[in-house]
Amino acid sequence: MKREEISQIDLKLLQEKYKDNFEFVEQKLKENYPVQYLIGNVDFLNTNILVDERVLIPRFETELLVAKTIDRINDNHIQNPNILDLGCGSGCISIALKKNLLCEVIGVDISEKSLELARENAKRNEVELQFIKNDMTTMSYEGADVIISNPPYVKKEEEVGESIKYEPQEAIYASEEGLYYYQRIIQNISKLEKKPKLIAFEIGMTQGSAIKEIAQKYLTDYKIEIEKDLTERERYVFLTLNTLSFFLHSMQNMIR
Ligand code: GLN
Repeated sequence: MKREEISQIDLKLLQEKYKDNFEFVEQKLKENYPVQYLIGNVDFLNTNILVDERVLIPRFETELLVAKTIDRINDNHIQNPNILDLGCGSGCISIALKKNLLCEVIGVDISEKSLELARENAKRNEVELQFIKNDMTTMSYEGADVIISNPPYVKKEEEVGESIKYEPQEAIYASEEGLYYYQRIIQNISKLEKKPKLIAFEIGMTQGSAIKEIAQKYLTDYKIEIEKDLTERERYVFLTLNTLSFFLHSMQNMIR
């Protein structure tokens, strides 16, 4: 990012934080180093999240993922849900959910380093939730009412911005045309005895129809909706368990 592309607010923050060595900032910006890492935190909905090279920088699109998910949880009257955030990174999604909704949240990530920062972020935002190390492709999702994920979804050969090289690569790229994690998550859910009522994904803008196909194959009892972000690009997939299936599941559990 060039100095003239930085907002006045960010420039002011940087001048304050690096008042004795602003040359460092200028050098870093020349190298396309992310301005968010230099500042050290980002606003995310009504939270503030510390960021450094251990975690992916929260994106605007992901704020909308959280807002839309909260609306759906409320619209579907899912009360006090147990929410699983797969690939939680900095913890931004988990923390924003916990701060804005009556719910229990578990954030899962394979990176111990990101979990350290996520825990720090929870403390900073005064919310109580668990951050656990696990592999989202093999772990059990048993007991989750809602599953939310912004997994790595960028194809290996995709053109991306210069500054992305400073972010954890394992949080960005995925095999199988970027679909690997959706495939694994959806297949894992299909094997669950008690299915989550809502699944919310952030997706790459060209991946909607492919993910819909996977969901149609493995999760036949879900309604599938693709939604756009503020730039009119397909960015979210919401899977809602059909009311009848939900009812039958509950009955089965009562009889048992
Ligand atoms: N949306 C991010 C980007 O374009 C990628 C994050 C992800 O893969 N979940 O850089």
